[in-house]
Amino acid sequence: MRPIQMVDLRQQYSKIEKEINNAVLNVLDSSHYINGKEVQDFATNLAKYLDVKYVIPCANGTDALQIALMALGLEPGDEVITPSFTFIATTEVIALLRLKPVFVEVDPKTFCINPDELLKLITPKTKAIVPVHLYGQTAPMDEIMAIAKKHNLFVIEDNAQAIGADYISADGKKRKAGTIGNVGTTSFFPSKNLGAYGDGGAIFTNDDLLFEKIRMVANHGQSKRYYHDIVGCNSRLDTLQAAILNIKLQHLDEYILARQTVANFYDRAFENNSKISIPFRSSSSTHVFHQYTLLLNEVENPEKYRNELIDFLAQNGIPAMIYYPVPGHKQKMFEQFNSSFKEMPTTDWLTQRVFSLPIHTEMDTDQLNFITSKVLAFLIK
Ligand SMILES: *Cc1c(COP(=O)(O)O)cnc(C)c1O
Repeated sequence: MRPIQMVDLRQQYSKIEKEINNAVLNVLDSSHYINGKEVQDFATNLAKYLDVKYVIPCANGTDALQIALMALGLEPGDEVITPSFTFIATTEVIALLRLKPVFVEVDPKTFCINPDELLKLITPKTKAIVPVHLYGQTAPMDEIMAIAKKHNLFVIEDNAQAIGADYISADGKKRKAGTIGNVGTTSFFPSKNLGAYGDGGAIFTNDDLLFEKIRMVANHGQSKRYYHDIVGCNSRLDTLQAAILNIKLQHLDEYILARQTVANFYDRAFENNSKISIPFRSSSSTHVFHQYTLLLNEVENPEKYRNELIDFLAQNGIPAMIYYPVPGHKQKMFEQFNSSFKEMPTTDWLTQRVFSLPIHTEMDTDQLNFITSKVLAFLIK
C-alpha cells in the first residue's frame, strides 16, 4: 500500500506531468514571468467555468479577501460579520484593514453561517458579511443575500474551500459557489481543490464598477500607468502558476468527482456508528469535499478522546487533522475586539469535536479500507 498522506500532490502531478512540463517550458521560453498571456487565459477560462463576468487573479487567497474588502470603500470601525469557525485568513484581513470583525455562530450541521444568528448581530455600523463555504459546501446564500439586501450590506464569499461547488437556490437555480455575493474570493494554495505549484488566488465578480475597483486595488491603485488614484497593493498571479492552473482547471470536475467518491466510501463505513457523525449533505449545495470532517458525538471529554484517536491513527501511519483547533473568538490577535463577540457555544462545541481524515484525488481502495478499519477499530474500543 502506498503511504497515506492528507494530500498526495506528487501522484496527481505524475498523471499530468507531460502537459504541465510543456506548459512550464513554454513560459520559460517566453520569459514573460509577470502578466504573461497565460494569466489572462486563465482568468478567461476560470470565468467561463464559474459562469461569472470577471475574474481577477492575485497572489494568494488572503490577498484576494483583503483586496475585495479594500474595494468596498469601507471606513475604519465599520463592522464585518464573519464566522469564528474558519481559517484565520478570513478574519485577519478584516482587522488588518481596521474594520471590526463581528463573529457569528455557524450551523452545527453545515459548519457554515447560521442566518438566524447573523440577523441578531446587525447594527447601524454593519457594512458587510463574509460567509465561508467551509470544507467544500456552500453557506445558505439565499438567506444571507436576503438579509444583505434588506440591510444594504455587501457580501464577500470566501470560496477558498468550495471552488466548483454548486449552490442550488430555493427556486432550483444553480450557480457556482463564489458567484452569488457581490464578490467571491479563492485560493490556489497547492492543497486546495484547484491548487497551483506555489501561491495563487483570485477574485470574482459580476459587478462592472467593483471589477474596475478590484483591478486597481490589486495593481497599486493605478488607473493608468504611473497614475495612482487610490491606495492599493501589489498582488499578482505568476505566469508559471497561471500556466499550471490552466491545465489543472481542465481536470477540476474530475478531481471533485474523485473527492466525492472518497467521501461516499467513508460515509458508508461510518454512517451507522453512533460515536461519530458523517458530514451533513445540504440539499442546497453540492459538496466538493475540500475536507472530509467527522464530528464526535457525545463522549465524555471529547478533546481527550479525539487526541487519543488521532494518536492511534498516527501510530498506524494515518494522518488526521483538526480544522481548526482554535476559533477566531479565542485568538489573542482579536483580544482588542473582545466587546464585539460574546460566548460562542456552538463554535466551541464544534471545535472540541471535529477531525478530518485524508481526502484527495489519488486515494485507492486499499488505503480507504485500511483507514476506515483503523478508525472503526478505535471507536469500538
Ligand atoms: C486557504 C484559505 C484561505 C487563504 O488562502 P491562502 O492562499 O493560503 O492565502 C482563506 N480562507 C480559507 C477558508 C482558506 O481555507
